[in-house]
Amino acid sequence: MASLTERPAVPVRAPRGTELSCKGWPQEAALRMLMNNLDPDVAERWEDLVVYGGSGKAARSWEAYHTIVRTLRRLESDETLLVQSGKPVGVFRTHPDAPRVLIANALLVPEWGDWEHFRRYEAMGLTMYGQMTAGSWIYIGTQGILQGTYETFGACARKHFGGSLAGRLVLSAGLGGMGGAQPLAVTLNGGVGLFVEIDRERIERRLRLRYVDRATASLDEALGWADEARRRREPLSIAVHGNAAEVHPELARRRARFDVVTDQTSAHDVISGYIPAELTVEDARALRARDPEAYRKRAYESIAVQMRAMLELQRAGAILFDYGNNFRQEAQNAGVADFSYPGFVPAFIRPLFCEGQGPFRWVALSGDPEDIYVTDRALMDALPENEPLVRWLRLARERVTFQGLPARICWLGYGDRARAGLIFNDLVARGAVKAPIVIGRDHLDSGSVASPNRETESMRDGSDAIADWPVLNALLNTAAGATWVSVHHGGGVGIGYSIHAGMVAVADGTPDAARRLERVLTTDPGTGIMRHADAGYPEAVAAARRHGIDLPGITA
Ligand code: NAD
Repeated sequence: MASLTERPAVPVRAPRGTELSCKGWPQEAALRMLMNNLDPDVAERWEDLVVYGGSGKAARSWEAYHTIVRTLRRLESDETLLVQSGKPVGVFRTHPDAPRVLIANALLVPEWGDWEHFRRYEAMGLTMYGQMTAGSWIYIGTQGILQGTYETFGACARKHFGGSLAGRLVLSAGLGGMGGAQPLAVTLNGGVGLFVEIDRERIERRLRLRYVDRATASLDEALGWADEARRRREPLSIAVHGNAAEVHPELARRRARFDVVTDQTSAHDVISGYIPAELTVEDARALRARDPEAYRKRAYESIAVQMRAMLELQRAGAILFDYGNNFRQEAQNAGVADFSYPGFVPAFIRPLFCEGQGPFRWVALSGDPEDIYVTDRALMDALPENEPLVRWLRLARERVTFQGLPARICWLGYGDRARAGLIFNDLVARGAVKAPIVIGRDHLDSGSVASPNRETESMRDGSDAIADWPVLNALLNTAAGATWVSVHHGGGVGIGYSIHAGMVAVADGTPDAARRLERVLTTDPGTGIMRHADAGYPEAVAAARRHGIDLPGITA
């Protein structure tokens, strides 16, 4: 038997079916979702407990992982487990409607809230980087970001190209856990895209999952394919094996014309996430371990080179936007200052946030894909007037390969989320699906994040860095009875740049679950409308009035 302090001999995979190893479905759901985050088909590096986003982990160490699993198995239905940066630290008697797990990840007091202090505490074994859904056990593979990425490129197409990317050429880099969604999101919007990635294994993974159509290491070949597809107005995604700090300047030198340029390398974490020019992935790993300072210097030099090339492509006519990886900030840290372009949230997403809309997701604990198809149909039947949603659910069924437990994502707003929760709970109660459904969301949501370089960039009232909002979101979701709730520091943009909260609720078919779901799936998007109404967005004030949300001082 493998030791309970070490990496398991065989990869981790969540149990399927209806047999419980815990004392109730809520605990079982937490257990399965923790394990699902580490499933080799889901996690980018399960051996190191890394789920996605550079170094986003599900548990601090293998010992902590095994202890969480053991504790969830003995946890009573009126107890709450506390997890401090990936390590289980306490179990307290609470009550059946309270969360079964409460999680805090990577939080540091503000003056110490930088990578340097974080790394020091991490090396002392005191903390862990939880990214967003990695350390809060609701990552569902690249699909999790696919609809958001699809919506973002769709909004970009509506704003700049008459509604479609047909005949348009997109350039980006990074085909990791999140960035890997870009090629499919571009082709689903009808466009052609070049995606530069230095790690051949990541490219092969995206080819296998059908997120990218073709791959080559030859820039001539890639540009030839792209030109052809663009002329025929046929969607095509091409992975280019290479380093963006080398490929992008070459593209600028050749005066290649792009319509849209963005980036999803893990630039938010310069040392673990961005690979400097002229290094293979293995060279980078060795240099990082041998001389992190030299690594940082080379990474910053490369970020500056890549940024200058992207700015040249912008001057040649491309729409340039930041895709949530703190690239602008790190380019500034690297000494490039003469630029101005928006992040994707103010450019494309904020109107959705004002309505409480965001990335709603759910997972079939049975492990049976048919359960997800049943939920897809139930949602299409309930919301036939929501055409984008119906189109998305059809496309997703056709094009999305499940990773780990079958799951679905779609952007839903206030009212519809609670409705969906009750519909799913009813499906479980009636036996129309084979086991309970877990409902959660990304932390990149309407009311759950403070992130001045991303979700809360350029807020109307200047409240970009006010971090009370995600904390209120987490506190309220706890009071409303979510199954697990988390508060994190860092996430997509790195330590020092954001505070955000997660929540997950389980539909186990019981009337108690129905009450909790209705409450939590109302409070959660409700805090998004509240946050944006407070910032003075008229759309959010109107949404609050329409839904009868009680916002003293605003709707009174
Ligand atoms: P990841 O670490 O899994 O993938 C990053 C990829 O970039 C890797 O495959 C790596 O090989 C590649 N890469 C690094 N440097 C490169 C270079 N110089 N040239 C070419 N390829 C290079 O990370 P991820 O989960 O895909 O996330 C990517 C970034 O997006 C992160 O900064 C993350 O925080 C951010 N993010 C964005 C959103 C969003 O909604 N837009 C959401 C979450 C995270």
